Amino acid sequence: MSENESIEKCLIIGSGPAGYTAAVYAARANLKPLLYTGHEPGGQLMITTDVENYPGYPDGIMGPQMMEDFRKQAERFGTRIVSEMITKVDFSGPVHKAWTEGGTEIEAHTIVIATGASAKWLGIPSEQTFMNKGVSACAVCDGFFFKGLDVSLVGAGDTAAEEALYLAKLCPKVHMFVRRDEMRASKIMQDRVKSTENIQIHWNTEVKEIQGEEEVDSVLVVNNKTQEETTIPVKACFMAIGHKPNTDIFMDYLDRNDAGYLITEPGSTKTKAKGVFASGDAQDFTYRQAVTAAGTGCMAALDAERYLTEHGII
Ligand code: NDP
Repeated sequence: MSENESIEKCLIIGSGPAGYTAAVYAARANLKPLLYTGHEPGGQLMITTDVENYPGYPDGIMGPQMMEDFRKQAERFGTRIVSEMITKVDFSGPVHKAWTEGGTEIEAHTIVIATGASAKWLGIPSEQTFMNKGVSACAVCDGFFFKGLDVSLVGAGDTAAEEALYLAKLCPKVHMFVRRDEMRASKIMQDRVKSTENIQIHWNTEVKEIQGEEEVDSVLVVNNKTQEETTIPVKACFMAIGHKPNTDIFMDYLDRNDAGYLITEPGSTKTKAKGVFASGDAQDFTYRQAVTAAGTGCMAALDAERYLTEHGII
């Protein structure tokens, strides 16, 4: 048993597949994990429709339903779940500290980081002006508001392809802006996009300005080969240009790569700080799948359990 019962054995930060899977394993190992969900409980899968590539669901499953199931499974074994955000940490001592946005201090012997990643934005001023007035980073969440209207989408990865296909079912025309002359998305997704009649791909095209009065009326785009500018009337501009890992609060204590992903020891979830383990999209810039996130969440809980045993805490 822990010498000091007020010190948590395992604090889990984040509630996507990585966080909940870590919770299932930690709870079943009797670590009585405490999990903070952050502002978006369930993580990125809450803004996904059908998940067809998670093993065990031959007919697919809706993302929010899957995360509800993950949560229930974590709770079934005694995980305590708190719907609050951790905004500060201190990993300098043998016992780690974390603080919620409300100022609550938590002490923990081990910490599993599962904070995931958030959508990236173009960074042009008009994007902010029309935020939630036609500008969105989630077609699946907001596409419905533009049913029957022409829309646009920026990006060329699997997310962009998936979202363009989703929008194409709701909207008469989807303008897809791709900044290079090829797409990054997997071949199957590219083929689906290219064979969808109401998706128009604009190659070598970047958004310069989002325009309108109260709401978006058009986008000004530029062909980066010819420099030709065109105004395209649309009621929405969806961003699907990738994600940024949510790791800023750890930057003083942990190593990150250039893109901000936490660096872990190869083959493990160990970070530079002893007893702190990183899992899911906060540390995985290669695979970024729900199933790989769940896998590293499991690894982090097992690593935490081993650490607690080795240090005589359990
Ligand atoms: P990616 O990083 O794969 O793709 C981002 C896309 O946005 C790229 O095409 C990139 O262009 C483009 N982009 C980035 N910045 C800008 C910018 N400023 N202006 C214009 N375009 C920009 O992110 P995704 O979210 O698409 O995917 C992340 C991971 O998740 C990938 O591994 C993907 O395979 C996976 N995924 C899998 C799915 C599935 O299997 N069902 C569904 C969705 C995602 P460029 O190519 O020029 O760099």
